[in-house]
Amino acid sequence: MESIYYVMAWACHRKCRHCYEDRFRPYVRGALEAVVREAEANFPRIVDHFPPRMTYLDQDDPRADGTFPEKTGRIILSGGESLLDAVRERVTYPVIERINAKYARQGGVKIVVQTTGDLLTDAIVGELTNLGVWMISVASVDDFHVGLEGPERQKRFVDGLTALFERHGLTKSGLSASTRNWHEEEGPLYSFFGATPDSWIGKLWPRGRAWQNGLSSATLADNFCNRWSGGLNFLRHGYNGSEVSVEPDGGVYPCCVKTRRPIGSLLEDSLIAILDSLAGVPAYEAITMGHPERMGIAYGWSEATFVERSATVTPKGAPYRNLCIGCDRFHEEVLGPVLEAARARRRAARGAAADPSRRELARLVER
Ligand code: SF4
Ligand code: SF4
Repeated sequence: MESIYYVMAWACHRKCRHCYEDRFRPYVRGALEAVVREAEANFPRIVDHFPPRMTYLDQDDPRADGTFPEKTGRIILSGGESLLDAVRERVTYPVIERINAKYARQGGVKIVVQTTGDLLTDAIVGELTNLGVWMISVASVDDFHVGLEGPERQKRFVDGLTALFERHGLTKSGLSASTRNWHEEEGPLYSFFGATPDSWIGKLWPRGRAWQNGLSSATLADNFCNRWSGGLNFLRHGYNGSEVSVEPDGGVYPCCVKTRRPIGSLLEDSLIAILDSLAGVPAYEAITMGHPERMGIAYGWSEATFVERSATVTPKGAPYRNLCIGCDRFHEEVLGPVLEAARARRRAARGAAADPSRRELARLVER
């Protein structure tokens, strides 16, 4: 697998109006304890169900003899804000330690901690580098983050953090955050990005508060699926370009945008078992090809029907069209039983592995 985007906990100290997720917001007292406890209770099983190796064969970089080199993939640890006091010590640091232990003798892994940068101090940067974090990625440099509006404020913010990172021996990533091979550099590194109009997320996904506030400027021409953070290549877990996102409850999604239904849960199954159970399933093959408009063809939704169902009206009353809307409807109306059948196949396979006399049952369910 090339990349896993792991949202460990919902808590954030901000409540940005462009955020793609309503649940990223401040929580206090019992509510904060509940989201931290959810993250804390689930991460051991989630990490244990990550692939046995976080490596992939890079088909874009063939050797002279036609074979493909095995490269080390990455796990991006994110929130919300993964460095909040309540989350850092109880979730983020133990997650990093568990991931390091899991992959130490299995080809390694590059750990990226994604943060707003607001809470970084010398002590925290020191702790992260001591834990072997490969990159600290500051994701808040845009006009939507309160206090960072405009180039001057952004420059002051970036300059201050750059000095902090360089005091700790981190070097600036020379590649843009949207370059797919950015993690091939030598760490430890730091990088900056944000939801700027020129970035791959600049048009904003039709999700969360961005959607509620009518901020997504995407059209039908913006196929979020066929790009970085979309569903492209998610099923091809042995190769470059494979990426999934994971939520604090173990839910797995083919994209960071997130489908209406998770494709499985890491509390129940391994990531590889979930992906393999959807290989050859037409809707998910269309997503992995970056062509969501074809996900319904085997189920009676032509491309024209899918595009028609991709039209809606925003909460602000404006007409809106995007393929992720068609994907939402298709998941709501059609894919529930398809995902349930894949889950039943996995359950049967688990049972068969534990009890050879149940192999016949597994074979029947598979049919
Ligand atoms: S955009 Fe980032 S900083 Fe803002 S609320 Fe969402 S997760 Fe928090
Ligand atoms: S079309 Fe569906 S699978 Fe593709 S990016 Fe949008 S929500 Fe994700």
